[in-house]
Amino acid sequence: LTPHAFLGIDFGTGGARATVIDEVGEILAECRYDFHGEQSAALWRTALFELIGQVPAALRSVLRAVAIDATSATVLLCDAAGEALSAPLLYNDVRAGDEAASLAQRAPDSLVATPTSGLAKLLWFQRQPEFANARHLMHQADWLAFQLHGQLGISDYHNALKTGADPDTLDYPAWIKQLPAAALLPRIVEPGTVIGPVSGRIAHHFALPRDCLVRAGTTDSIAAFLAAGATKPGEAVSSLGSTLVLKLLSERQVDSPEHGVYSHRFGELWLAGGASNSGGAVLRMFFSDAELQSLSGEIDPNRPSGLDYYPLPKPGERFPINDPLYLPRLTPRPDDPAHFLHGLLEGIARIEAHGYELLRKLGATPLTAVLSAGGGAHNAAFTALRARFLGVPVGTAAHTEAAYGSALLARDGTRLLYSGHAK
Ligand code: ADP
Repeated sequence: LTPHAFLGIDFGTGGARATVIDEVGEILAECRYDFHGEQSAALWRTALFELIGQVPAALRSVLRAVAIDATSATVLLCDAAGEALSAPLLYNDVRAGDEAASLAQRAPDSLVATPTSGLAKLLWFQRQPEFANARHLMHQADWLAFQLHGQLGISDYHNALKTGADPDTLDYPAWIKQLPAAALLPRIVEPGTVIGPVSGRIAHHFALPRDCLVRAGTTDSIAAFLAAGATKPGEAVSSLGSTLVLKLLSERQVDSPEHGVYSHRFGELWLAGGASNSGGAVLRMFFSDAELQSLSGEIDPNRPSGLDYYPLPKPGERFPINDPLYLPRLTPRPDDPAHFLHGLLEGIARIEAHGYELLRKLGATPLTAVLSAGGGAHNAAFTALRARFLGVPVGTAAHTEAAYGSALLARDGTRLLYSGHAK
C-alpha cells in the first residue's frame, strides 16, 4: 500500500475532477463529476463530496493533503456560517456592468474595472436585499475548501487578483479597503499555504486521517499550468484548444490592459498571460478532428505554405493585436485541403510567436521553451512548424488536467511555486 497520497480537485466550467497522486507524482486515482443544470453552491457541495467519496477508501485513509482549484472570478455571498445567501455569480457573468464603470473611474487600468471581476460582483451583491445578512465574499475555490477545513474568510493570491488583492503585500490597496463592502473581502495567503487540517466531521465522514491538511488553492487555468511542468523563467505553456492561450514564467511583472495581458504572482516569479481569439475553433469550421489528423500527415513543416492567413472565427482580436474589428484573413484558399490546413496552422503558429514576442517587448523574460496542451498539442506537423516560428524547443505538457496541478500543490504546498527559482 502507498504510504502517502495527495488529492487535487478541479472545478471547471462543465464539471469537477479529482486526481490522487503519490510522492513521485504517479496518478493513483482519477474521478469526475459532470454538472447538469444550473450551478449552485448546493451542486458544488454535492460534487465535492461525491468526488471525495469516489476516491478508493484505501487511498483516503492515507491522504496527507488536499488542494482545490476552481474557475477564476466565480464568487458567492455567504452569511456568518458560510452558507450561500444567493446563487453564485459565475466567472463570465457580466451583470455588474454599472459597478465596473464606477470602478473604472477610480482605477482605470485596474483588473477590477471589468464586470466579471470579483470586486465588481461584490459591489453588485451590495445592491441586493440578501446583502443585509452577508459576512463573506468567497471565491468558488475558497468556499469549497471551507467545506473541508471549516475556516471562513481566506483566499489565495491567484483567485483574489481580480478581486483587487495586491499579491506583493497580500493585502488590498487603500482605496479598496475604504469601500464599505471591503469588510467582506477574504484575507490573502500564498497558494499552497496550509489553512488547517480537515474538520473532524469531514475526517470522520470520509475516513480521512485527522491530520490530513487542506492547502490554499488556485485558479483552474493556473492549476493546468502547474500540471504542465514549466518551472523556470522563460518557460511557457501554450494551450491549443478552441482559443490560443499563452502563459509565460517571467522574472518581471508585465501588464498591458489593452491587450488583456496581466501577470499573476508565482512565488518570486510572475506568470504572464495572453489569449488570442485564434485557435482550434477556426480549424473546426473547416475540418473534423479526424481530417485534421490525416491531412496534417501530408504537411511538410519545413516548407513554407506561401499563404499569409490570420485565422479568426469572426472579426475581432485582442492579443497580440488589439483591434475589436480586426478581420480574419483566410484567402486565397487553395484547392488542396492539406495546403489550406498548412496555411491555417502556420497562421496560428505566427500568432503564437508574435504573442510571446509581445510579452518580451512588454518586459517579460525572453522565451526559452514551450510546452503544449490542448487539442493541437499532439499534432507532429503543427509542433514542428511552431518550433520553427518560435525558435525554441517545443515539448508536450507533462499533464494537462488541472486536477493534477492541484494535486501537486497539495503535495508540495507553496514550495511548488519556488521550484524553478533559488530561494
Ligand atoms: P477546448 O477545451 O478549448 O474546447 P481542446 O483542448 O479540447 O479545446 O481542443 C479542441 C480543439 O483542438 C478544437 O478546436 C480542434 O479544432 C483542435 N484540434 C483537434 N485535433 C487537432 C489536431 N490534430 N491538430 C490541431 N488542432 C486540433
